[in-house]
Amino acid sequence: MASNILIVDDDAAIRDSLHEFIMISGFTAFKSSSSEEALEILKEETIHVVITDIILPGMDGLDLTERIKSTYNTDVIVMTGYSGDYSYEEAINKGASDLIFKPVRFEELLLRLKRVLKERRLTNERIEMLEKLKKLAITDGLTRLYNSRHFYNQMELEADRSNRYNHPLALLLLDIDLFKEYNDTYGHLQGDKVLQRIGKIIKSCLRKMDTAYRYGGEEFTILLPETTAEEAKTVAERIRAGIEKVKFSPVPGNETNITISVGVTEYCKNEDLSEFVQRADRAMYLSKKNGRNRVSSIFGEKEVKQSVLPFSSKTS
Ligand code: GH3
Ligand code: MG
Ligand code: MG
Repeated sequence: MASNILIVDDDAAIRDSLHEFIMISGFTAFKSSSSEEALEILKEETIHVVITDIILPGMDGLDLTERIKSTYNTDVIVMTGYSGDYSYEEAINKGASDLIFKPVRFEELLLRLKRVLKERRLTNERIEMLEKLKKLAITDGLTRLYNSRHFYNQMELEADRSNRYNHPLALLLLDIDLFKEYNDTYGHLQGDKVLQRIGKIIKSCLRKMDTAYRYGGEEFTILLPETTAEEAKTVAERIRAGIEKVKFSPVPGNETNITISVGVTEYCKNEDLSEFVQRADRAMYLSKKNGRNRVSSIFGEKEVKQSVLPFSSKTS
């Protein structure tokens, strides 16, 4: 992708010759005679590097640099006329990537520009890679839902929020029915396909704020912020019905259905997270006990008395 370079200089001769040189060097070049005009161009165009004079009418080049760095992902090279006037440190402290002395030698400018662009590319690649790694660390490889580590972190965040603002927080725990039998009959690989498909169905049934996790082998959890258990039951039922109607074909010509059992519960103010999860688990087991392929819910005490001692161990 071609890089967009903006030249800022109030001296028309310098501005035009730099502009032409930058274009000849294979970049897309823009030019402006003041900081104010430069900021207008930055609003309209994606500029990768700004090359600016320091002494300008109105806002000077260093303040312009500061403004650019606070708003845009743009590098700045500043040009200064008198080597004594502005120090390299001053420019760098304002966020400039490099400083070049006037009269500008084109070849030197080109070298500096290329180096800035290269560093920019490397930094962007590094950021992208870190983002990918971060995502990978919280994603379950098979289903592409979040993993259980992320579940515990998010549950903690949501419970804190719920405690602080008195907003409801619901939890669903889903377990595939008789999945061992399916694996034993059709093989583990076919079982994995079911897990993947169920991951997709769950995702398609969620609302914007809800997040789904592969909690264990064939168990899933869903956190529903701002949601009461009563409302969460509707979501659970939608997922249960959505999975039930899908036809799986583990062997050609053979169609079969998969069902899930769901437990629903709502967070009680100040309660231990293990308590919260265990209640969802108990609700899920109620569904199993009552014949599977159903949604059950258990409500806890509305509010758990906060223990006087911090970190005191739970009593019975
Ligand atoms: P229930 O209705 O009581 O939940 O019966 P179930 O057979 O689903 O329960 P059980 O806990 O006995 O067995 C769970 C099975 O889930 C065991 C294993 O074969 C399967 N399973 C767990 N993790 C995976 C996985 O990653 N891939 C596949 N293919 N199967 C898995
Ligand atoms: Mg299970
Ligand atoms: Mg199961």
